[in-house]
Amino acid sequence: MQLTPRPNGSLVTTAADYYTLLASFAQAIWETDPDGIVVTDSPSWRACTGQTLDSYLGEGWINAIHPDDRPYAMHLWKEAVAAQLPVNAEFRLQTPEGGWRWTNVRATRILRADGSIKKWLGINIDISEKKLGEEALKKQETRTRLAVKAAELATWEWDLRTDLVHWNDKHFELLGLPVREGPVYADTFLSHLLPDDAESIKAQLADSIRYRIPYDAEFRIVKEDGSVAWMSGYGHVTAEKDGRPVQASGVMFDISMRKKAELALQDASRRKDEFLAMLAHELRNPMATIRNGLTILELKASDMVAQTTINMMNRQTSHLVRMVDDLLDVGRITQGKIELRKKTVNLVTLARQAAESVFPLFQQEGKLLEVTLPPGPVELDGDATQLTQVMINLLTNGVRYTTDTGKVLFSLDHHAYEAVIRVEDNGIGIHRDELARIFDLFVQVDNSLARSRGGLGLGLTLVKSLVHLHGGRVEASSDGLGLGSSFTVTLPTLNPGSAALPETPARLLVIDDNDDSARTLSMLLQLKGYETCTENSGPTGIAAATKQQPAAIVMDIGMPGMDGFEACHYIREQPWGQNLVIIALTGYSQAADRLRSSQCGFDGHLVKPVDIHELTEMIGSLIKQKQTTTS
Ligand code: ADP
Repeated sequence: MQLTPRPNGSLVTTAADYYTLLASFAQAIWETDPDGIVVTDSPSWRACTGQTLDSYLGEGWINAIHPDDRPYAMHLWKEAVAAQLPVNAEFRLQTPEGGWRWTNVRATRILRADGSIKKWLGINIDISEKKLGEEALKKQETRTRLAVKAAELATWEWDLRTDLVHWNDKHFELLGLPVREGPVYADTFLSHLLPDDAESIKAQLADSIRYRIPYDAEFRIVKEDGSVAWMSGYGHVTAEKDGRPVQASGVMFDISMRKKAELALQDASRRKDEFLAMLAHELRNPMATIRNGLTILELKASDMVAQTTINMMNRQTSHLVRMVDDLLDVGRITQGKIELRKKTVNLVTLARQAAESVFPLFQQEGKLLEVTLPPGPVELDGDATQLTQVMINLLTNGVRYTTDTGKVLFSLDHHAYEAVIRVEDNGIGIHRDELARIFDLFVQVDNSLARSRGGLGLGLTLVKSLVHLHGGRVEASSDGLGLGSSFTVTLPTLNPGSAALPETPARLLVIDDNDDSARTLSMLLQLKGYETCTENSGPTGIAAATKQQPAAIVMDIGMPGMDGFEACHYIREQPWGQNLVIIALTGYSQAADRLRSSQCGFDGHLVKPVDIHELTEMIGSLIKQKQTTTS
């Protein structure tokens, strides 16, 4: 729509219109005679102050003003009337409720045609909100000033157009300069920077101004007396015009004490690391000699006492060697000196090796190790020795931090491109607060079992560092003290985990009246991927076989009561017992014994102590054989 302006005055505005306009935003509108004396009523003044007409008239209005502001208000009014100048003042005005509101009064004289004064006309506008805001701001500023002073902060405000900077007293003091009024040039600060730090600080300041990002830096300054001090500086652009930065401001404070403590700490830590690495290195030679000496003695020792002593010393030496190795490794890792020898490795093989190497420890302590490995390979780019070490450390802790009925579940899973190693035990558990800490260097949770188990608090530090070096992560979890612990290592793999379910492992039954030998054999078979269960006599073995119908039974022959021959014979007579594999595992090795066992229905005959590879090979091939003959 096109608008054509109408001539001025075509919308005639009357005096009444102006009055309505004023009344709509004014607190009060009033008038006085030429001498400034109120002679007419102002309903709006009386409404906002609560004054009666009598108390308002004359110069009574002054009583509606706050006592503190009265002298100033009256003086100003008298002066303005005498000089015939317009009035513009601020003061507090009473409310009918007995409170106070800030008002801005504006008044002007109205002249007659002959130039003489007709009257004074005034208007009051409520400015309480604005005043309260100003007061709050003032209080805030006072508080900030006090805080800046208490925190010993140096402040600066840099006018980027003039390059002049305003400093507070503390700023002068920190640079060792005499305090003076007025601004200084920005160069005064820049020239106090230690030359080594100057370039980077100048660049940071420039970037901060250019890109409007906060500037946050630690740097050294050279004071007037030549001494060097560490400062922390923070600042940002605080004002812009047309989008151009015109002012930057910030603070600076002395951090020399903190820096000194930090450097001392770093130095102490470096020296400690160097000492430990050297100690570990130096301990290797004497240990090698002890180990060699023990080997010689072992060959010579004929009596039991000497043998036992040598065995014990051998065990303790191994323990010592392991701790020294850990110390050396940790030393190398903390100094960033460890080098991984990476190639494509199969984690399943490494997990099996780790389990096999801790197995004697589990046997020695009479604790259970249950291993679950995936059927297919889990390939990753890694250092075989170090990855095996990670698993050995976790498994060893599983033995060390469980009590007599200790049991450790060791599993490896492969999902997508992630391998998940889990070592779960039913041991002493870990308090929630300690879970994150136990991976730190030299941390041992303060409890008597942990202490009695020796160790240096290095194992988990190594685990974490090595896992990180392989791009993985490790987590510990525990439901609390006494409730066992679980450690999960996640590593990236080269091949994807198959979505298909793993092949069901063949189920085996081990029957032996010697419980220790039954349990250890069963553990070894689990390591080879079988599911096993054990029984300690002929009758209980038969009952278990009836119920479970295992793929194979490994059975001792010499058992009290029903022996192996009898038990095997019985099983072969059962309809379910024709096709399963039964292997005799016995101390009897004569040809006659073998003949007898085969007559009783045994498929194979092995002599104790059995070689686990021989046993599993026999189990595997016999199961396959049976499957092909039946199908
Ligand atoms: P070390 O075992 O030599 O003390 P580690 O770094 O292997 O050092 O372990 C650090 C601490 O974490 C141990 O002292 C122990 O308190 C706690 N810890 C480690 N593994 C377990 C676990 N399986 N169960 C309970 N606590 C554990």
